[in-house]
Amino acid sequence: MFGRAAKKSDNTRYYDILGVSNNSSHDDLKKAYKKAAIKNHPDKGGDPEKFKELAQAYEVLSDPEKREIYDQYGEDALKEGMGGGGGGGGGHDPFDIFQSFFGGSPFGSGGGSRGGRRQRRGEDVVHPLKVSLDDLYLGTSKNLSLSRNALCSKCTGKGSKSGASMKCAACQGTGMKVSIRHLGPSMIQQMQHPCNECKGTGETISEKDRCTQCQGEKVVQEKKVLQVIVEKGMQNGQKITFPGEADEAPDTITGDIVFVLQQKEHPKFKRKAEDLFVEHTLSLTEALCGFHFVLTHLDGRQLLIKSNPGEVIKPDSYKAINDEGMPLYQRPFMKGKLYVHFSVEFPDSVSPDQVKALEAVLPSKPPSQLTDMELDECEETTLHDVNMEEELRRKQQYQQQEAYDEDEDMHGGGQRVQCAQQ
Ligand SMILES: [Zn+2]
Ligand SMILES: [Zn+2]
Repeated sequence: MFGRAAKKSDNTRYYDILGVSNNSSHDDLKKAYKKAAIKNHPDKGGDPEKFKELAQAYEVLSDPEKREIYDQYGEDALKEGMGGGGGGGGGHDPFDIFQSFFGGSPFGSGGGSRGGRRQRRGEDVVHPLKVSLDDLYLGTSKNLSLSRNALCSKCTGKGSKSGASMKCAACQGTGMKVSIRHLGPSMIQQMQHPCNECKGTGETISEKDRCTQCQGEKVVQEKKVLQVIVEKGMQNGQKITFPGEADEAPDTITGDIVFVLQQKEHPKFKRKAEDLFVEHTLSLTEALCGFHFVLTHLDGRQLLIKSNPGEVIKPDSYKAINDEGMPLYQRPFMKGKLYVHFSVEFPDSVSPDQVKALEAVLPSKPPSQLTDMELDECEETTLHDVNMEEELRRKQQYQQQEAYDEDEDMHGGGQRVQCAQQ
């Protein structure tokens, strides 16, 4: 008895949700649902629960059979009936109902002109993002303003004021047109191509029903500011992804915006993975007698770099400072090494006095093993200045030319001989 009383009060809730009386007509229901659904659409910031409830209520009340059951026995009876029926549309996705409603076939069967849930995925949008080595060392955040297509908020991406769109008359809503060519008395050729009236969408919106905000385009340009967090230790080429922030389009899963880091050249430091490299030139005196210099790091700290007492730095040699390289990505308290690459500048010439002084302090030269007599018998030579880079480049060109010539010859029968030899 108690149960029946409960059920009795249960069969008005759906009407209350839609804000209509229980003897309202189909048209009244439709209008009420449309108004409430647009107002509560989650895309417009509405409550998803409320939106779901609306869709549920509408689904039941718009179906004459279900409405009758509901009116007599209430919600529970419907749930029982659906559950037992097995997959009979018990748990409809509210978006599907919304879709089919605004798709132009709110009542009865007929899957709607959009052909159900064939959701394609929108394209990802990839932007290069230039960052300095300082940014990658310290970490930074950048606010980037981008414009993108967003579903029109006024029509929730339907393109029309009423929410209705009509099947394109030219293609009966299929978006495709078939043209038939007669090739002979009993032969025809069918060709399918996208409908040009509706640009393949299968629907048209009448001129006066067009949404005033998007002019029926369904989407509007939207400026959006994205905060891109560049973390300490990120690498050149690393991607930072904003899921679902690319262009919105109706019936489309929005793609991602992807930023690809591009590290700008640094005037002083080079980076290799977690290590940093810096060039430093010493005078010959510094290389032999010791040196110190101050290096300003990427975070502005002043590092004092100095030689160990008595140590000689050889040209083209490396020294490393631990824990002064790049911070490791997501472990920024750990750092790589800072390598210093040394060049040594030698004087161009020395005077006879300097030679004497140097010979006095530097390790003595190996004694000459030749007698004056023997030296007299040798041929004199002269050392000339050369531009070695230039010489090497010329030699390389010559070698390439030779290799090319050889290659040409190979196309004869030489190749086979070579294979046989291996
Ligand atoms: Zn619009
Ligand atoms: Zn069409």
